[in-house]
Amino acid sequence: MREIDVKRITEKVRDLCIEANTDLGEDVFEAFDRAMAGEESPLGIEILKELKENARIAKDEKVPICQDTGFAVIFIELGQEVHLVGGDLTGAIFEGVRRGYRDGYLRKSICHPFTRANTGDNTPAVIHTEIVPGEKVKVVVAPKGGGSENMSRVTMLTPSEGIEGIKRFVVQRVKESGSNPCPPTIVGVGVGGNFEQSALLAKKSLLRSLGSKNPDPELDQLESEILTEINRLGIGPQGLGGRTTSLAVHILMMPCHIASFPLAVNIQCHVQRHKEAII
Ligand code: SF4
Repeated sequence: MREIDVKRITEKVRDLCIEANTDLGEDVFEAFDRAMAGEESPLGIEILKELKENARIAKDEKVPICQDTGFAVIFIELGQEVHLVGGDLTGAIFEGVRRGYRDGYLRKSICHPFTRANTGDNTPAVIHTEIVPGEKVKVVVAPKGGGSENMSRVTMLTPSEGIEGIKRFVVQRVKESGSNPCPPTIVGVGVGGNFEQSALLAKKSLLRSLGSKNPDPELDQLESEILTEINRLGIGPQGLGGRTTSLAVHILMMPCHIASFPLAVNIQCHVQRHKEAII
């Protein structure tokens, strides 16, 4: 059994909150370049250039990529040979979020749903914990913006709707979202599981590197078919027209109940931020 003090998790979460909000992954920069090469709209190309420049300035000057620094969504993979000491895991994560948003001068965006009173420190965070083999802890911080999250949906298709039903729902969701999720977007899709699991699959699919292939060839094909349809909608960068409405579609799937066909769409804006560390 390996002992890990939860203070180390607090420190990591703090650092990752700041890094994720200021340092956009190179895979996103490369996706901007690919999009510019394929974009026909001059205004669309101009906007993609500006998004790239904005992200580059944020990286160089260590300032947030966007004013919306997101809901802190934390994925923990906890090795079953690890014994956490020095406090409780949830408290340690919340403290990391608190420090990260304070020290990084990141906007605190979390409030009471009724009164809208701000909690003041960007807590609580949303934490997804998975127990895995081994003696390490993996921490992923994925701050999620409100504009794109608002456009996300879960639905329960009927089993007979099949793959065509998935395509129809996902493309329609992107169409109805228009400029609201700050396109170009990344469209996370969760298929199967049950109601809540499909939403989690959709969110987790966003952690995959942009430009990477889906390891399942059938899903890889479906991703490219849906992306082609989405990019025919003409919404374009920031909703001002063009081919680049989405940079990618990512799908995760798992078996479901014989009576059900859960489907979730989690839309992610171009600020596709997540950082991870292993302790
Ligand atoms: S949806 Fe994304 S780009 Fe738009 S305001 Fe929110 S975080 Fe920023």
